Amino acid sequence: MSAGRAVPAPPPVSLREPDPDVRRGLRPEYTKVNCAVAKCVALTFDDGPVGGTDRLLQILAQHRVKATFFVVGRMVEEYPGILRREMADGHEIANHTWSHADLTTLSSEGVREELEKTEAAIGKNIGHGTTLMRPPYGATNARVASAAKRLGLAQVMWAVDPLDWRNRDTALVERRVLSQTRAGDIVLLHDVHASSVNAVPKILTTLAERGYKFVTVSELLAGVSVEPGRQYRERAAT
Ligand SMILES: [Zn+2]
Repeated sequence: MSAGRAVPAPPPVSLREPDPDVRRGLRPEYTKVNCAVAKCVALTFDDGPVGGTDRLLQILAQHRVKATFFVVGRMVEEYPGILRREMADGHEIANHTWSHADLTTLSSEGVREELEKTEAAIGKNIGHGTTLMRPPYGATNARVASAAKRLGLAQVMWAVDPLDWRNRDTALVERRVLSQTRAGDIVLLHDVHASSVNAVPKILTTLAERGYKFVTVSELLAGVSVEPGRQYRERAAT
């Protein structure tokens, strides 16, 4: 036998290739979780999409985890392909205003415009609007609540805030999330900071070891009465 016989190399595995079984919901990791019973946690990522979101999407796909992205409208205009990939990978998309404005400083008309323009930009790319919004800085008031209500959007706050925008320190973000997260919590992170994206693998591995299931915000709140305009920071104890 000649040692020179060429064996064709297998084609490189691409992380970008969607797994058809996952897309069809056939993987057990992607079956529905009942958060009234299971220890659920919803990871949320704000202020994107940006170029770095792509790496986060690869990490989430490797761990077969779904998250929720609160996207800024003008960033959607800049990175529409990344928004579409968030959607294709099964993540939830939610509204984080057009320009990341402090909505409490705006008129009712201004608030409506910030939210509506973002709904339109999202809808243009993924084919439908959203049911959730998060006011930038968590700054809200009666005008914001009323505008969100009229647009059919619940206000999503958070239970766990590692202050990852202030401390761009991966180990610190990991420690804060891991020490503060309880069942039913919504966790606030930012995909615009590489230090936060770098914290995600350890957060996923450690919380999974503790028995947590990662779900989107809508999955977390399934069975809870979610009303447009009202605020949610966790799955209320049942
Ligand atoms: Zn934000």
